[in-house]
Amino acid sequence: MKKYDLYINGQWVKPESGKYFETDNPYTCEVWAQIARGNETDVSLAVHAAKKAFNDTWGEMKPTERGKILVKLAEVIEREATRLGEIEVRDNGKLLAEMGTQTRYLAEWYRYFGGLSDKIEGAVLPIDKSGIFNFTKHEPYGVVGLITPWNSPLLLLAWKLAPALAAGNTTVIKPSEFTSASTLEFMTLTEEAGFPAGVINCVTGFGLEVGQPLVDHKDVSKIAFTGSDISGQKIYERAARKIMPVTLELGGKSPNIVFNDADVDAAVMGVISGIFAATGQTCIAGSRLLVQKEIHDEFVKRLVSIAREAKIGDPMSKETNVGPVTTEPQFKKIIDYIKVAKDEGANCVLGGKQYEGPGSMGSRFVEPTIFIGVKNEMRIAQEEVFGPILSIIPFEDEKEAVEIGNDILFGLAAGVWTSNIGRALRMSDKLKAGTVWINTYRAVSFMSPFGGYKRSGQGRESGQESIKEFLQLKSVWIAHETSNANPFIIR
Ligand code: NAD
Repeated sequence: MKKYDLYINGQWVKPESGKYFETDNPYTCEVWAQIARGNETDVSLAVHAAKKAFNDTWGEMKPTERGKILVKLAEVIEREATRLGEIEVRDNGKLLAEMGTQTRYLAEWYRYFGGLSDKIEGAVLPIDKSGIFNFTKHEPYGVVGLITPWNSPLLLLAWKLAPALAAGNTTVIKPSEFTSASTLEFMTLTEEAGFPAGVINCVTGFGLEVGQPLVDHKDVSKIAFTGSDISGQKIYERAARKIMPVTLELGGKSPNIVFNDADVDAAVMGVISGIFAATGQTCIAGSRLLVQKEIHDEFVKRLVSIAREAKIGDPMSKETNVGPVTTEPQFKKIIDYIKVAKDEGANCVLGGKQYEGPGSMGSRFVEPTIFIGVKNEMRIAQEEVFGPILSIIPFEDEKEAVEIGNDILFGLAAGVWTSNIGRALRMSDKLKAGTVWINTYRAVSFMSPFGGYKRSGQGRESGQESIKEFLQLKSVWIAHETSNANPFIIR
């Protein structure tokens, strides 16, 4: 069986605890690897290595040189994309079609931010004081901690790691305890690309044993986190004790809104992609479907007839549409929420239980499930399930669609299906979400900022602006004329 150690200062290191924990394949439920169980001591070692690398190598390097190493990493990733995709599937059970696409796309983040690393410019300010030259510069924080979830480990790491490194920071990564293997395999690629030792470190383990000490460490100056809103809140609270900035990419309960003037075939496919792709285990899941009343019944009929045909089974197979649920706790949570919805009076028109049919391997599959008659105040409409469970809510008009769409604690994304351009623009104005898709869903790019409004988080990943999440702004004042000004008064 494969056994992974910690990756600290360019070396594979045994955990101080001497302990390892198991990781399983969500499809076969077989344990396939052992992962080092890191602790506070290991975190300290990794932070120390990252600090040294910041002072001695990475922080001293010219941005152009740093950029070249990032671009080289992109090339190495491209060569290894298929293998990385397969490891992701073995560890998180999502479809090879999905994870392979993600790992092939991954390289673009490193290439994009590699290119950006020597284009971070300050400004010379036409300052209103005589005899003073004033300029600004963007500087890295130093050591940053990157904490990732289990649903798309390498992609969500790239969204943080590429800009953090391009900005000149060094890093300690803490992947999810459920899916650490791909990140550990990735460490070897960073070595090949030529990163100096200590620039990228990886400490595996549990949230409280590794994540929390990383957040608390005095030499960690910034945290970028993706995960649940509950963990995000805890991290935010602890970061506040150090007055440390954090980027938080948290959960969602996104409305996917279908108007009666929509291209119905396209909308049905968009709704399916929003909730049943990745078995609904995606932060941007369009888990609340709002359908205009006049087309509600017909739309539901078409949706159910297509969703019913989704093939459930082996995530490695090209034929499969819906794979297993990644973790046992997540599986139990989804099954519980199905009960919650039924108890609240929602009407289940598809699925509604564990899938145990052909190809299920006795594994943790949940049938694609659709509830109608959902009211927006129900728990099933308000809380993130993170599974293939769709709640359908009818609405009267644009005003009501906006009201229901925004009546939620989250604000990660929203979808709108309409053929009316004016309506599309009005909706994109009024929806309180970090991303609004019109006549498409679940599209992301290294070029376009991603992040949440409200309880879905703060800060942005991807796009040019996002590099600033890993930089702090300094203002430099140089007096070039002697001044006789009164020293007791502000200049
Ligand atoms: P999680 O919050 O349970 O765990 C995420 C990571 O945080 C893991 O590495 C975990 O070990 C660590 N962690 C947990 N508690 C911690 C603590 N107190 N201190 C430090 N680290 C801690 O999330 P998950 O179940 O792995 O992932 C699913 C969640 O992630 C969903 O809510 C989903 O919406 C969200 N998500 C958000 C985005 C986004 O970009 N907005 C993307 C994917 C997933």
